[in-house]
Amino acid sequence: MRGWVLASTMAAVALGGGSALAQAPVAADQPLLRAVTAEVEAARLRTGIERMVAFGTRHTASETRSNTRGIGAARRWVEREFREIGRGCGGCLEVATPSQTFTGARLPRPTEVMDVLAIQRGTTDPERVIIISAHLDSRVSDVMDFTSDAPGANDDASGVAAVMEAARVLSKRRFPATLVYAALSGEEQGLYGGTVLANYAASRNWRVEAVLNNDIVGNSRGQSGVVGNTHVRVFSEGTRATETAEQANRRRYNGGEVDSPSRNLARFLDDLADRYLSNLDVLMVYRTDRYGRGGDQVRMLEAGYPAVRVTEAAENYDRQHQDLRTENGVRYGDTVAGVDFAYLAQVTRLNIAAMAALASAPPPPTGVTIAGAVKPDTTVSWTAVPGVAGYRVWWRSTTDPQWRFSRWAGPATSLVLPGVVIDDWFFGVSAVSAEGWASPVVFPGVAGSFERPPPAPPVAPAG
Ligand SMILES: [Zn+2]
Repeated sequence: MRGWVLASTMAAVALGGGSALAQAPVAADQPLLRAVTAEVEAARLRTGIERMVAFGTRHTASETRSNTRGIGAARRWVEREFREIGRGCGGCLEVATPSQTFTGARLPRPTEVMDVLAIQRGTTDPERVIIISAHLDSRVSDVMDFTSDAPGANDDASGVAAVMEAARVLSKRRFPATLVYAALSGEEQGLYGGTVLANYAASRNWRVEAVLNNDIVGNSRGQSGVVGNTHVRVFSEGTRATETAEQANRRRYNGGEVDSPSRNLARFLDDLADRYLSNLDVLMVYRTDRYGRGGDQVRMLEAGYPAVRVTEAAENYDRQHQDLRTENGVRYGDTVAGVDFAYLAQVTRLNIAAMAALASAPPPPTGVTIAGAVKPDTTVSWTAVPGVAGYRVWWRSTTDPQWRFSRWAGPATSLVLPGVVIDDWFFGVSAVSAEGWASPVVFPGVAGSFERPPPAPPVAPAG
């Protein structure tokens, strides 16, 4: 929750009534985001999920030659859908199917894990990439059972349906940055599709700014009967998976535990939901994933890419990873009956708004630093981002979940905040375009940088 107008007003208060506060060219409202969210259709999401369920099982080790059953048929269907959407936008989508063969605890035989990607190249900054992902594979009670029916309507056909709806809606527009729509496989067997995606992103030298991993996003009635149709959880890591011991030491002293790029991506989504969606709020969860559980965003985080997990507010475990059966009057299984399509449409709108906003905005600033120890003022500095109108410096109390105060810096690459004592606040900066699109806020230093850290040097093979 944050608002530009409110923030500016409060900034004036925090700065002692600074009447000279110049206003940023930040539009109060972006018509594009109203338009793209209005185009999401719950009926299309339903059709997509029903089609995926009809493949019987989409287990990663299932049949690949059949055209009607198994993961192979499901992958080829997604590929055809992406190509069809691409035809509708004059060939704006490049479809790619990167794959790797894995063996592991849950993949006893070497198994090819293939992702299906649609890539919508950015107009001016195509190496900068915004990804929406979900996993196509499904499972039942026994994770090794690759033959029984595993509808996976909510886990995670709901996410894949959102990915495909995002492609349909956003491919009608052009954006400065590249958008990638990703249907992954191998999640249930060990997050393998996330590994394939991370490797593919690295091989193409993508500067991945954001991964929105949608996994279990369509059920609104929780196990206990609670209805959670007005909230969606966004999980984000606190400290970066790539943090070195030396960086951790510095961060423990100066802060940054709650300001990874993924966390500031979550704040960006929270703000968008407040401004553009009725009856859907973001519940930020300060965790990489649900307790003891995982998702494909983990592999992207390990590779140094900012990523969040989007998941429904109230899960129903009778409908996850279950054999289809009835026991003591309770129906188990992940069927279409458990999907709330109006709710899924809302979650899809949040994703689409976020992708459009991120891809329209300038890239997040790099080289963000703060200075001001033993001084009454704080100076925030950053590296210039080409082509922007200027920068907005943000700060908040160290216990506040959202950025609260802000000040427009204009095109300068540093700003002094008079009377704002460095010890008492967390600081960040966002790049803003002439049209008022703002990047996520970047916390200073490695802890908050959206840049991928240099890959670790290769380990020498043991002699
Ligand atoms: Zn899942």
